[in-house]
Amino acid sequence: MSYMQWEDIYEEAWKRPASLAGRRCPECGREDLNLIFIAWEMSDGKVSAALWCGACLHGISICNGIRPKAGHVWSRDDAERERPVPNFTLIPPEWTP
Ligand SMILES: [Zn+2]
Repeated sequence: MSYMQWEDIYEEAWKRPASLAGRRCPECGREDLNLIFIAWEMSDGKVSAALWCGACLHGISICNGIRPKAGHVWSRDDAERERPVPNFTLIPPEWTP
C-alpha cells in the first residue's frame, strides 16, 4: 500500500535488476514485478522509469531518474513503438512530515 515500499524495491532493482525476481508486490503480494527505463535522449544521463506489478497493475513511475549502470534502457522511439508499459494504477507519493 505504501509508496515507500515501492521506492525501496525500485532502489534495489536499480542497483541489481535481478533482485526484482524474488520481490513481492506491495499491493497484492504476488511476484510479478516489472521495471523498465526509458531515456528521452540516449546521450542523456536521465531516464524515466516505470515499476509495476503485472498481476494487479499497480505501480509507480519515476521521472528524472538516474540512468542505471546495468540493464536495458529503452529509447523513446522504441518505447513509443512497442509500448512496453501497460496502463497501471499509479501509487501516489505520500507526504511524510
Ligand atoms: Zn500486485
